[in-house]
Amino acid sequence: IEVPDNPIIPIIFGDGIGKDVAPAAQKVLDAAAEATGRNIEWARVLAGGSARDEYDENLPEDTVEAIREHRVAIKGPLTTPVGAGFRSLNVALRKKLDLYANVRPTYYLDGVPSPVKNPEEMDMVNFRENTEDVYAGIEWEAGTDDVEEVRDFVEDDMGFDETIHQGDVGIGIKPISEFGTKRLVRRAIEYAIENDRDSVTLVHKGNIMKFTEGAFRDWGYEVAEEDFPEETIDEDTLWEEYDGEAPEDKVVVKDRIADNMLQQLLTRTDNYDVLAMPNLNGDYLSDAAGAQIGGLGIAPGANFGDGRVLAEPVHGSAPKHAGKDKANPTAMILSGKLMLEYIGWDDAADLVHEAVEAQISEHRVTYDLERQVEGGVKLSTSEYAEEVVERIEDLA
Ligand code: NAD
Repeated sequence: IEVPDNPIIPIIFGDGIGKDVAPAAQKVLDAAAEATGRNIEWARVLAGGSARDEYDENLPEDTVEAIREHRVAIKGPLTTPVGAGFRSLNVALRKKLDLYANVRPTYYLDGVPSPVKNPEEMDMVNFRENTEDVYAGIEWEAGTDDVEEVRDFVEDDMGFDETIHQGDVGIGIKPISEFGTKRLVRRAIEYAIENDRDSVTLVHKGNIMKFTEGAFRDWGYEVAEEDFPEETIDEDTLWEEYDGEAPEDKVVVKDRIADNMLQQLLTRTDNYDVLAMPNLNGDYLSDAAGAQIGGLGIAPGANFGDGRVLAEPVHGSAPKHAGKDKANPTAMILSGKLMLEYIGWDDAADLVHEAVEAQISEHRVTYDLERQVEGGVKLSTSEYAEEVVERIEDLA
């Protein structure tokens, strides 16, 4: 989308290490904007702990409204209590703003430590559905009557045998719709076509969950066939008609079962390119992919709706490391790079990428990477960001 050269961009620092990495990323993005003749006017908006202090609520409507109005925004991580307590503010933001595609590119940066043999082969973009699946959070602690009712329904009306054990039961609902699936897969295919990618893989557990994840797969193939008949080819046709050699101008659409996909991610990385998946599969898979290219301190992401973006790193608020000026701001910086690409500031995005890569290849890194690279020099969050800023100024 187009924005002026001096846009207002809302920023949520977030909880925990968010308060360390967000200001660091802000400085780097400012430097890239300035080096390309632009200026970002930041609008700091609150969510999580700082919103509770200020407004006595977790997610003020002003924050949501600012992002809705300015369409382009960036956030640090927000803490979600496990078990009891409030529901995820990240999920709430994604739902309120209908940010239906969580996009997480995973690519290798020169010099990054990796547990796999050929990390340079890793160049994937994960499209994770963001509004449905068990992540919709429709679940409850079922009382005995509820359980009886559910048991009657599945046994009598649906004809299943013994399904739910006696005693306390938690029940959750996993909604996956044709509408939600198709708009996500459509976006992934569009991305693959526009960026000259070879394939889009639908990642599902349709063998077990036939009406949800199996349907995800079927709707995924359907949208390829209906909306992109000229630009895509499915894997079966590829083998039947082209002996496995895809024509240059076609994006291959294929599918893999999620557990198999997780191991292929480690062993056959170069066979995969763009992945499209339901919410939970995407959550697991993108952390595993992130681990191969330097870990959570590096892995960037962004949530997209129609005509809007909220960039955010894959990592959480890592409370143990909060406020120590030690967390790695790269994931947040590279999330900012995604945001810049979305508004068409490719020159600024390239500067950010080059500067970060140069910084890491010289092994001038934060604590999380320092011990893993030879001759690593340990820098604080702010020192690291300062050096990246200097590199941007030198490169410009
Ligand atoms: P986490 O990502 O916060 O941290 C896991 C570990 O990864 C940390 O202990 C740390 O060793 C490492 N790590 C993560 N980010 C790093 C960085 N930038 N630099 C260096 N090391 C880094 O995951 P968690 O501990 O499972 O979650 C903590 C909180 O964050 C929870 O409340 C969770 O709900 C929340 N969370 C939020 C988001 C989000 O805001 N989008 C995402 C994931 C988790």
